[in-house]
Amino acid sequence: MDERKDFIREAVDDDLKSGRYKKVHTRFPPEPNGYLHIGHAKAINIDFGIASEYGGKTNLRFDDTNPLKEEQEYIDAIKKDVRWLGFDWEDREFYASDYFHQLYDWAVQLIRGGKAYVDDLTADQIREYRGTLTEPGKESPFRNRSVEENLDLFGRMKKGEFPDGSRVLRAKIDMASGNINLRDPVMYRILHADHPRTGSEWCIYPTYDWAHGQSDSIEGITHSLCTLEFEDHRPLYNWYVEQLGIHHPRQIEFARLNLTYTMMSKRRLLELVTTGAVSGWDDPRMPTLSGMRRRGYSPKAIIAFANQLGVGKAESVADFEYLEYFQREDLNKRAPRAMAVLKPLKVVIENFPENQVDELDCVNNPEDSSAGTRKVPFSRVIYIEQDDFREDPPKQFFRLAPGREVRLRYAYFIKCTDVIKDASGSVVELRCTYDPATRGGDSPDGRKVKATLHWVSAAHAIPAEIRLYNHLFTKVDPGDVDTGKDWKSNINPNSIELLTGAMLEPSLKNAEAGLTYQFERQGYFCKDPDTTSEKLVFNRTVTLKDTWAKIEKKL
Ligand code: ATP
Ligand code: MG
Repeated sequence: MDERKDFIREAVDDDLKSGRYKKVHTRFPPEPNGYLHIGHAKAINIDFGIASEYGGKTNLRFDDTNPLKEEQEYIDAIKKDVRWLGFDWEDREFYASDYFHQLYDWAVQLIRGGKAYVDDLTADQIREYRGTLTEPGKESPFRNRSVEENLDLFGRMKKGEFPDGSRVLRAKIDMASGNINLRDPVMYRILHADHPRTGSEWCIYPTYDWAHGQSDSIEGITHSLCTLEFEDHRPLYNWYVEQLGIHHPRQIEFARLNLTYTMMSKRRLLELVTTGAVSGWDDPRMPTLSGMRRRGYSPKAIIAFANQLGVGKAESVADFEYLEYFQREDLNKRAPRAMAVLKPLKVVIENFPENQVDELDCVNNPEDSSAGTRKVPFSRVIYIEQDDFREDPPKQFFRLAPGREVRLRYAYFIKCTDVIKDASGSVVELRCTYDPATRGGDSPDGRKVKATLHWVSAAHAIPAEIRLYNHLFTKVDPGDVDTGKDWKSNINPNSIELLTGAMLEPSLKNAEAGLTYQFERQGYFCKDPDTTSEKLVFNRTVTLKDTWAKIEKKL
């Protein structure tokens, strides 16, 4: 562990030293109303990471108190994503709905103690009576009902005698509190809706605030780690456990992870999905863990990124490029290399014998000699990248041009002898010669060339569709909306670029699903699940260009 600890680890140390707790037990408490995103990865890494450093445990608990928005699909996706990140909750998979009976009994206990009451005000009236940050709230005319009447009404709420929204149960705390969360918060609402786990058993549901702290308490959580927006709720959570006289977890808040060009509200991510702005929760442009996985990101890079950002109390926005830096760091070490021509230009090597195929040795990973080599076929007709040729090369352009010689990676030197154009004047084919003495990429006479190009043998090439991704939003802060417009106006219309005519080296026909490759000189790519037996589809995970290094230099 690092010598300099963050404030959460310091607090945990203090609690163990003072004897407030004898062990560390944390939980990750997602609401199953959407897929997890990279912000959640930060929370997961803190929850599981800190507990494991102290030899403690972490529960996975679904805060499933709102049956209208929660679905089994989300529960399954969340479990898959937490596992993918490398964390294990063992047999401790819990649900707030497991505690509905206990929560009900505790609500009755508060009513008996004069600490909760049934209110008949409408939702609008409750809001009106709540007051503002500068003005105290007003007490509801129903606040001083007798214990007997409250017990009766609450029991009948549970039995289903009243319509949705007609009554709520509220804690009786203080309508003049400076903290609005303490102005008689709602504990139960009537909702005649089936719950994914409890079915039609309940027609009253606890609010998140009533369920959350007590769920932590029931599970014996010592440190309830959460994001800053819950700081103002802490006094309420403390009030509940103190009134009930039950185990008191310690809540500690940290700043959310924010990323440039990235939206992380689950509500808005859902809107992107439902409006078809993206293809689904796992669209590779989404900041969801399932989207990032599909795009080729690795859990290792995400965790390294989260660790490097650390834990703080100050809100900040991390550069997306910083995340990409960690992704490249990881992939550079382990990604198998391959050659793929994204925008092909046909090259005929005139002095290369027809029907001859040369099997050339290519290095699988220059960063890892144990990865070995593979054979890649070379023949008379090959493809190179359109961008690697200029008929009239500018000064700094060292790649192929008429009369110029370049190296083909792991193959030969070739020299451009002729340029063939179509009727519109576009270059459609190059004629070249090769030097057989340069096999493997070096010339015995010590002749130098200034560029090395990747290539694919035309007769052996595998066609593929390549999907290049850009930021999903055009603005650094997608929430920064021009007046009169909505946040969706910041969606980048060019966030995906399809290359339908790419040509890949033959070994990629059997590319492994879930493995990210480096396409030499192009970036990192992985096979997309849209791949069929007829069509290979690859996603670009990240480019090779390290824009972060440039930014860092300027810092
Ligand atoms: P919403 O987007 O609707 O506010 P949420 O992302 O907070 O929802 P939860 O399911 O409540 O959704 O989140 C589970 C846990 O993840 C919470 O403890 C929350 O504090 C944490 N979390 C959510 N977003 C981030 C983030 N951007 N950075 C760090 N932690 C986060
Ligand atoms: Mg939340």
